[in-house]
Amino acid sequence: MNEQFRQALSVIETLKRHGHEAYFVGGAVRDYLLKRPIGDIDIATSAHPQEVMAIFPKTVPVGIAHGTVMVIESGVSYEVTTFRKEGRYEDYRRPKNVTFVRSLYEDLQRRDFTMNAIAMNEHGEMIDPFGGIEALKQRIIETVGNAAERFNEDALRMMRALRFVSQLGFSLSTGTKQAIVQYGHLLQHIAVERIAVEFEKLLLGPFMSKAIELLIETNLFAYLPELATKKEQLAQLGAYALVPVHRIEAWARLAYVVQLDYQELKKWKLPNHLIRDVTICLQALKHIHSIDDWTIDALYEYGRYIPYIEHIRAALHGDEPHVQQLLKRWETLPIRDRKELAINGHDLLALFERKAGPWLAEMIQKIERAVLHREVENEKEKLKEWAVCNQRRENNC
Ligand code: ATP
Ligand code: MG
Repeated sequence: MNEQFRQALSVIETLKRHGHEAYFVGGAVRDYLLKRPIGDIDIATSAHPQEVMAIFPKTVPVGIAHGTVMVIESGVSYEVTTFRKEGRYEDYRRPKNVTFVRSLYEDLQRRDFTMNAIAMNEHGEMIDPFGGIEALKQRIIETVGNAAERFNEDALRMMRALRFVSQLGFSLSTGTKQAIVQYGHLLQHIAVERIAVEFEKLLLGPFMSKAIELLIETNLFAYLPELATKKEQLAQLGAYALVPVHRIEAWARLAYVVQLDYQELKKWKLPNHLIRDVTICLQALKHIHSIDDWTIDALYEYGRYIPYIEHIRAALHGDEPHVQQLLKRWETLPIRDRKELAINGHDLLALFERKAGPWLAEMIQKIERAVLHREVENEKEKLKEWAVCNQRRENNC
């Protein structure tokens, strides 16, 4: 067991002391077996949510209806979920109501893939009723039980299968792959937001090319928002080897390569700020083709996005990214934001004894450019002087 699990042991031991069963489950166990860095630790228990809340001093009821309580121990939070099986599935979606069960086996049985259905007890022993460890050895993603049934219960699992391909580089088992081909259309019943979560993970994975290839081969791409008619462009995405450093880069790269505009991005129901950031990157990529296109004005405009734009630009033009060099140039600009100007609207209104109007925004913009290009120092008195001179010149006096 590693340090993270050892720290979490107290949660398991406390539950057991109170007469309940408790195990580590899910992605953390899988990643531990794969010797990958583990993320959040999930615990499954026979205790019901109310019982969990009564036992631990610090808890947050994050998903009582689904049996999940967050337990905070020594500053670390753990999701503790009651053994459950899911109620009847309707509309190919995860059901709203769940039934709590008292056996670990049933809880593991409702999980998506065999590699995600392994439990670990407090001694580090694995409980693996569905052959998950073997699947990890074979590097295969395979549903627990019949793939067709499992995808009919919850169609999102098909997207999850492909995002795990992207993250782990594994292959799909024959049955799992065939079922995706057959039932891909069920993805239409799934909320776009849930699809986007999995698709974003796919875009950010080190084996994205492999996942995109499978997305096309299984025809699953045809049920993704705005991508149904973009097969050829999507195939090109596979050629981008660099792993994106951020979700902005991942979506900008997709949008650039498959040519998604603002309206089409909106269909993915991404947060507005993300769509805005992506749109700015797309705008930059229209102008910036070579390293020389990073002018002072471009640096000022797009400085915050340098790593993302530069990674995509370099990949597009078979070039090396020059992120560090550009960041250095950006940092030495006299200002990086209008807010850093040593003069503001109030100062100018007082200086010219004029009412606010379009002239003010124009004047601020001119000052901004002048400071950026080092025509004048960013000091209040100097800027006032410059503004007055500039005004006189404009008035030809
Ligand atoms: P990650 O490391 O990316 O979080 P994960 O395997 O932990 O991967 P989660 O989405 O956090 O994925 O889900 C936790 C566990 O819950 C999974 O390992 C799986 O056992 C189960 N699970 C999640 N989503 C589903 C689903 N749609 N159907 C069945 N089981 C699921
Ligand atoms: Mg997880």
